[in-house]
Amino acid sequence: MKTDFLVIGASITGVNVARELKQRFPDATVAVIDKENGCARHSSGRNSGMLDAGFSWQADSLKARFCKQGNQQLTQYCESNNIPVNKCGELVIARDGDELSSLDELQRRADGNGVKLEQVSARQAREIEPRAKVHEQALFSPTSVSVEPVSVMKQMEQDARDMGVKFYYGTSYLRKAGDEFITTLGTVQANYVVNCAGLYADQIAQEFGFAESYRMLPLKHNYLVSSDVPGAFRTHITAAADLFGSYPGVHIVLGVDGKAKLGPAVKPALWREQYHGTDGFHPFEMSKVVGVGIGQMFQGGREICKTCLQRFAGSAHSRLTTAGERLVEGIRANDYRDWVRPEIQAQLVNTETHRMVSDFVVEGDARSMHVLNTVSPVFTCGIPLAGYICDQIAAATGE
Ligand SMILES: Cc1cc2nc3c(=O)[nH]c(=O)nc-3n(C[C@H](O)[C@H](O)[C@H](O)COP(=O)(O)OP(=O)(O)OC[C@H]3O[C@@H](n4cnc5c(N)ncnc54)[C@H](O)[C@@H]3O)c2cc1C
Repeated sequence: MKTDFLVIGASITGVNVARELKQRFPDATVAVIDKENGCARHSSGRNSGMLDAGFSWQADSLKARFCKQGNQQLTQYCESNNIPVNKCGELVIARDGDELSSLDELQRRADGNGVKLEQVSARQAREIEPRAKVHEQALFSPTSVSVEPVSVMKQMEQDARDMGVKFYYGTSYLRKAGDEFITTLGTVQANYVVNCAGLYADQIAQEFGFAESYRMLPLKHNYLVSSDVPGAFRTHITAAADLFGSYPGVHIVLGVDGKAKLGPAVKPALWREQYHGTDGFHPFEMSKVVGVGIGQMFQGGREICKTCLQRFAGSAHSRLTTAGERLVEGIRANDYRDWVRPEIQAQLVNTETHRMVSDFVVEGDARSMHVLNTVSPVFTCGIPLAGYICDQIAAATGE
């Protein structure tokens, strides 16, 4: 196969990069390969589908830069393609007096990021969400909405096909061979490679000489689904103090159908795609992942140790429901029996700072671009992030 652009990964990042490339270079050939038999089989089709409003991110981050715009563009995209959007908003609460200062900091960040966030009293908060346990004050984000990720991805893939992008499924990228690329479909001659391989992006980037100081620490996220009827909760509900660390605290998130989920439970995955038990057992990956986890903890990764202790220990069913009880009234363990299918986050660790990488990372040169640390909220940011990736390609190639 010969192509101008070879995109690895038919996902929110890969499909949007392909669409953007085709828009900027209509005469160029763009091929997307994915090792699975369809698009969005990993994070992009398994996530919560919440379009983050962008109020909580540090102003100097790519997350802050793209979240508000991504939220607006994806909401509009869904509306214009008749894809349902649940405009439920998000209530951010203080659970006690100590958490009131977190509300102030979030308001400051929201103002800095130009994101609408309304200050509400405890009474007003209970009008918005009668079950919320609010201490004195809360914040309401009207633009936090929910969509169904697989429907979004199907539409985006179809748009890309209509623009002339070619998709090759069941096709794994294997390695570089000089100026050519070996895949399970055969050898590909491509002028430019864009690596959007999610959980494998660091590995591919390292083959090209990038991402040298990053290692993958795949973290499995799991939510309990509520047996309450849709509408039993009216908004997403989050505690303000839980929005500052690398990982969100336990929150209530609503689907596009109004059904609620409680979570996440976070556990290390022993290999990159260890969704269940021994599925896809990969001893080589397991030795690397365990090595990275243990190695970083011993080399002073205080934040990693803290996250492990706080989050992994708090992941049992009973601890999730107990954390849920601190947020809202009427959480009964019996109503939260089933887990939704798990998702694995492509979390990178920086081997120089021994910290979990917080922001998205894009590295590349005149031959290839690599999209790394595609953690939440990449789904929200997908459209503008693709524009940024294409700007980086243009700058690197002088096009
Ligand atoms: C529990 C959870 C909930 C989340 N909820 C939200 C949310 O509500 N809102 C939000 O904005 N974000 C959310 N996210 C984050 C979001 O889902 C991801 O950041 C995003 O989907 C990542 O997309 P991606 O394009 O980078 O990678 P992926 O979707 O992981 O896709 C990578 C693709 O590359 C392919 N691939 C890998 N290796 C190869 C290879 N060698 N050859 C060929 N193909 C290959 C894979 O098959 C896959 O299709 C959530 C994350 C988690 C963990």
